[in-house]
Amino acid sequence: MSWEENVRKVTPYTAGEQPSGKVIKLNTNECPYAPSPAVSERMRCLAEMEAGTGAGMLRKYPDMNATALVKAVSEVYGIPEDRIFAGVGSDDVLSMAFMAFFNSDTPVIFPDITYSFYDVWSELHRIPYRTLPLDEDFRIVPEDYLCDNGGVILPNPNAPTGVFEDPSVIEKIIDFNRDRVVIIDEAYVDFGGKSVLPLIDRYDNLLVVQTFSKSRALAGLRIGLAFGQEKLIGYLKDVKFAFNSYTMNVPAIELGAAAVRDTKYFEETVRKIIRTRERTKKELRALCFSFADSEANFVFAAHERKPAEEIFKELRARSIYVRWWNKPRISNHLRITIGTDEEMDTLFKALKEIVS
Ligand SMILES: *Cc1c(COP(=O)(O)O)cnc(C)c1O
Repeated sequence: MSWEENVRKVTPYTAGEQPSGKVIKLNTNECPYAPSPAVSERMRCLAEMEAGTGAGMLRKYPDMNATALVKAVSEVYGIPEDRIFAGVGSDDVLSMAFMAFFNSDTPVIFPDITYSFYDVWSELHRIPYRTLPLDEDFRIVPEDYLCDNGGVILPNPNAPTGVFEDPSVIEKIIDFNRDRVVIIDEAYVDFGGKSVLPLIDRYDNLLVVQTFSKSRALAGLRIGLAFGQEKLIGYLKDVKFAFNSYTMNVPAIELGAAAVRDTKYFEETVRKIIRTRERTKKELRALCFSFADSEANFVFAAHERKPAEEIFKELRARSIYVRWWNKPRISNHLRITIGTDEEMDTLFKALKEIVS
């Protein structure tokens, strides 16, 4: 017998490439703009405090409740602090939530085309799961979610399709599943969708997860949030503190708080991205691409003649990175992140050459 027999074997999540050098990077849905200037301002201030006086914050363990960040979020969102949980990116928050809430022998349910981390966490935490097919237009079939299950997880807008469902549709699913936890992953909700956050007042089984990685331009800092009623958040904290109390580091807590308070910069950035996205839709249509309407910071498009794999490779040869998956139902689609207007113009020019 070998030690290998007792290894927890998992297929890891495959992230988009992070190429170095001068490339146009439209493959991992990062924000093309810098984070709020309040972040670098706070960074300078923290650096000064660290410089030799002993008054710095790095010497000590961080606050395991991330209070400075949670307080800022509470004030900006108008949600009490005990309904907020902060973690190391929403991937961390979601993985904790899977561990905390999905413990039934009945399978957890989520769409067949969705964020490709959900099945990875299910395997890792040994949670049985069942996927429910999206319809032809990449929409969820809400009735499918009104069934016996061990929990529900849905991104809204969905990834990688960008399709947004109205909160009233999501509410029916939450309402039917009152005796299980329903997690709504709102990684892209700031780009024109509508959050189900107001519903946490009415449903104690609803956990809403958001991230600072996309709309707040802080993917490198790793900040994710979960919102829910006190009891739900309490259980999530128990799991987190049983696993590793000090996951969020001091700079993330401090800089995240500075970022969330700058609502003006946030709104401007999001507006710019939405404007570029709508222009991108027009340009792509003119180039004979089709796509479900996106409310996210990306478009998931297929060309009417040229296979996605070929376009993907030809773009890559020109140092333009988009995302392509060799997976059933989506292998002829490209997920294109919305970059700056300049980056998108370079993309359109390249696509024009490639598809003509
Ligand atoms: C990007 C993304 C996340 C994770 O983002 P973090 O950087 O870990 O906060 C979670 N869910 C979906 C659907 C995403 O696209």
